[in-house]
Amino acid sequence: MDATTKLGQPLVRIEHLRHFYHKGTTSGLLVLDDVNLTLKAGEIVGLLGRSGSGKSTLLRIIAGLLEPSSGTIEIEGQPVTGPASQVAMVFQSFALFPWLTVLENVEIGLEALGMPPAERRKHALAAIDLIGLDGFESAYPKELSGGMRQRVGFARALVVHPKVLLMDEPFSALDVLTAETLRTDLLDLWSEGRMPIKSILMVTHNIEEAVLLCDRILVFSSNPGAIVAEVKVELPQPRDRQDPAFRAVVDDIYARMTQKVAGVPQREAFPGTGLAMILPDISTNVLAGLIEMIDGPPYDGKADLPELASKLQLEVDDLFPIAETLQLLRFAEIEEGTIRLTPAGRQFATADLDDRKRAFLQHLLAYVPLAAHIRRILDERASHRAPANRFLAELEDTMSEDYAEQTLHAVVSWARYAELFAYDEATGVFSLENPT
Ligand code: ADP
Ligand code: MG
Repeated sequence: MDATTKLGQPLVRIEHLRHFYHKGTTSGLLVLDDVNLTLKAGEIVGLLGRSGSGKSTLLRIIAGLLEPSSGTIEIEGQPVTGPASQVAMVFQSFALFPWLTVLENVEIGLEALGMPPAERRKHALAAIDLIGLDGFESAYPKELSGGMRQRVGFARALVVHPKVLLMDEPFSALDVLTAETLRTDLLDLWSEGRMPIKSILMVTHNIEEAVLLCDRILVFSSNPGAIVAEVKVELPQPRDRQDPAFRAVVDDIYARMTQKVAGVPQREAFPGTGLAMILPDISTNVLAGLIEMIDGPPYDGKADLPELASKLQLEVDDLFPIAETLQLLRFAEIEEGTIRLTPAGRQFATADLDDRKRAFLQHLLAYVPLAAHIRRILDERASHRAPANRFLAELEDTMSEDYAEQTLHAVVSWARYAELFAYDEATGVFSLENPT
């Protein structure tokens, strides 16, 4: 720790941060609501939340890439007003320059700082060495595996010797083994004090990953994003996923993420309300499968989510959206880490295919406003047809393009199962014609 960080002064301090996205003429979409957080030197802090909860938005604001609607953000006591040189970002996947070698890709960040070429090379080689890429200096990105490419991204972030390293789901695009290796390497470098940084703020949707790496975990709610809980992880490193104390922390976080607070209206599972709700793209096969599993032995209609997740080898961002889709459709209820089938859910479990489709249709129309909306438009039109683009444009008023596509895709697949309307992939047109 150098003298510029006064003892006790937080490295990053965020107070009363709010952010709206404004699109078209619609009123703003609130994605971050009164976020307060401090990051101190020497700690790894995790920001754990569901897709669409505003995690990336928060990181972009801290990095000075996006101006918040209101609130303050300071790094070492200095307000952030533009791209902040004290921070570097690691993304889920990097846009490496395909025509540059590994070494050149790492050096490029230093060019912008105006560093002389010889010094640039020295720094870049050191970062490449540190992150375990030596021998690959002259390789081109296309010659590298996903894990190696991600290492280039890390080297590119570390080479500028940032005070704070911001990581946005840095391991989630990698296969399981590669991710584990990279996590372990990173943690070793950190605990040996070899990383040229003071602290790490990591965004993840993976509970176990957060518990493996972090000293402190901030649990982020969706709709809008806000910090709802702070969990200190006091287990010594290296941590063992099988350790009962480790499992206890994971279970505690699961419970907090599904907690209903008495007297406070429950936050919706998915960001946005009504037509603006971001829906997860989950197939009806998966939904039916989970219903059947919970209905059967040993669960008999009620299951512990962490237990289900480990049995199914799923992570929170995989299991939660499935469970929450069942909740949205009122086939299940989630409370304090437990999922319980509703009477309709239990009926569904034992019904035949036609009855299942009928039940699904009723629930889809009643509880998924977008499905009912599309159906209503198709009913009203003489042609009973409407282009998908029309609905996409409507969704993009309140959500990013990617989330709009995901949401529409989800509703299309559910509607097909329920035979609510048809969609022709080739022409991009919805219709009431029966799909054959
Ligand atoms: P996360 O990283 O947690 O998945 P994001 O910060 O990417 O969440 O997005 C949070 C919310 O803000 C989502 O509802 C998303 O659709 C919306 N959003 C993100 N970027 C934009 C944008 N450029 N314009 C409008 N809405 C956006
Ligand atoms: Mg994100």
